[in-house]
Amino acid sequence: MKYISIIGSTGSIGTQTLDIVRNNPDIKVAALSCGKNIDLIEKQIREFSPQVAGVWDEKDAADLRSRLKDKNIQIYSGMDGLIEVATAGQAELVITAIVGMRGLRPTVEAIKAGKHIGLANKETLVTAGHIIIPMAKEYGISIYPVDSEHSAIFQSLNGEEANEYEKIILTCSGGPFRGKTKKELENVTAEDALKHPNWSMGKKITIDSATLVNKGLEVMEAKWLFDADLSQIEVVVHPQSIIHSAVQYKDGAVMAQLGTPDMKIPIQYAIYYPKRRPLDGKRLNLFDIGTLTFEKPDLDTFKGLALAYDALKKGGNMPTIYNAANEKAVELFLNGKIKFLDIPATIKDCMDNCRFIADASLTDVLETEEAVYEYINSKHL
Ligand code: NDP
Repeated sequence: MKYISIIGSTGSIGTQTLDIVRNNPDIKVAALSCGKNIDLIEKQIREFSPQVAGVWDEKDAADLRSRLKDKNIQIYSGMDGLIEVATAGQAELVITAIVGMRGLRPTVEAIKAGKHIGLANKETLVTAGHIIIPMAKEYGISIYPVDSEHSAIFQSLNGEEANEYEKIILTCSGGPFRGKTKKELENVTAEDALKHPNWSMGKKITIDSATLVNKGLEVMEAKWLFDADLSQIEVVVHPQSIIHSAVQYKDGAVMAQLGTPDMKIPIQYAIYYPKRRPLDGKRLNLFDIGTLTFEKPDLDTFKGLALAYDALKKGGNMPTIYNAANEKAVELFLNGKIKFLDIPATIKDCMDNCRFIADASLTDVLETEEAVYEYINSKHL
C-alpha cells in the first residue's frame, strides 16, 4: 500500500491523479487540498477518505467541516493548511498539483518531513530551484517530474546514469498562436488564448502556453531537475506534441519519449517509478500521425521565452521576478484588465524595475513575490 497526498486535488493534474488512484487499489490518499472548489473536494473526501484536508479560506474550511461532520477528518485553511496537507503523516509521496508560487512553502515543508515529491508545480523550481534541489539531496528525497516534457527527459535518462548527456531537446507545441505575427496578437482575447491545440489544462498554464512563458518556465525547471546549463537546453517547436522531449548523448544518439498527449502517463510514472503499470487510453498510431514537424521558436514575437533566457542567465531572484510578474499579468489578462501582449511587457517592466538580489534566500524569494505584486498593483489597480 502506498499513501500519497495531493495539493491542488481539484485541478487538472489533481483530478487526473485521483483517476489513477481510482484505478489502482494499492494507492491510498492521506491528504487533499484545494483553493475554493469545496463542492468537488467534499466529493473527493467522501470517495477517497483522506485524514487531512486543506482549503484556502477559513470560511470555506468552516463550511466544509460542517458538511463533513460525519467523517473523521481534520480540515485546515490558509498556508498553514497547505503545509498540514503537504506534511500529513502517512503519505510517502506528495503530488504538487497546485498552481503558482503558492506551492513553494508546502513543497519545502514536505521535503523536510521526508516526503518524496511528484512535481507538477513547476513554479517551485523556477523560483527556488537553487534551494529545493540541495534540500532534496540533504533529506534524501526524490523529485519525480510530472510535467510531460520533464517526465520524457527523465525517462530518456533512465538507465543512462553512467553516461553524460550533451543536450536536452525540450519540445513545445507552439500553443494556439504559433505562426502569428505581433500585429495579429494585439487583440487576441482570453477565450482565443485558452484554446490549446493539444492539451486540456488549467487556465494559467494554458495562457502560459500561448505566450510561450510556459516553455520559459520549463527551461528553468529542466535546468534544476537535470543539472543542465542553459546552453544545453534546446527548445524545438513540434506542433503535433508526439515527441514529449528527448536527450542527446555524447555519441550523437538521441533517446526520446513519445506518446499521445495524456498527462496520466507522466503522473502514473511519477507515482510508481521505476515500475510501469497498465494504463487505459489512446495508443500512439504512427500511421495516423504520418508526419512530425519541427520549427525554431519565434523569440521575437513570443518575448516570454526570450525573457526567460534573460532571467535564467541573470540568476538570483530574477526568475522569481519573471514568474511572479507572469502570474499577476496572467490574472489581469484573464480578468480583462490587460491585453495579451501586455503579459510579456509586464514581465519585462518588472525585470527592469524590481529589486535584484544575487544570492536569494527563501525569504528573499517570498518577499520578491510580494514586491512584484505590489509593483504591478500600483500600476493597474
Ligand atoms: P488548475 O488550475 O487546473 O488547478 C490548480 C489547483 O490548485 C486546483 O486544485 C486549485 O483549487 C488549487 N489552488 C488554486 N489556488 C489555490 C489556493 N489559493 N490555495 C490552495 N489551492 C489552490 O491547474 P493545473 O492542474 O493545470 O496545474 C497545476 C500545476 O501543474 C501548475 O503549476 C502547472 O504549471 C503544472 N502543470 C500542469 C499541467 C496540466 O496538464 N494541467 C501539465 C504540466 C504541469 P480550486 O480548484 O479550488 O481553485
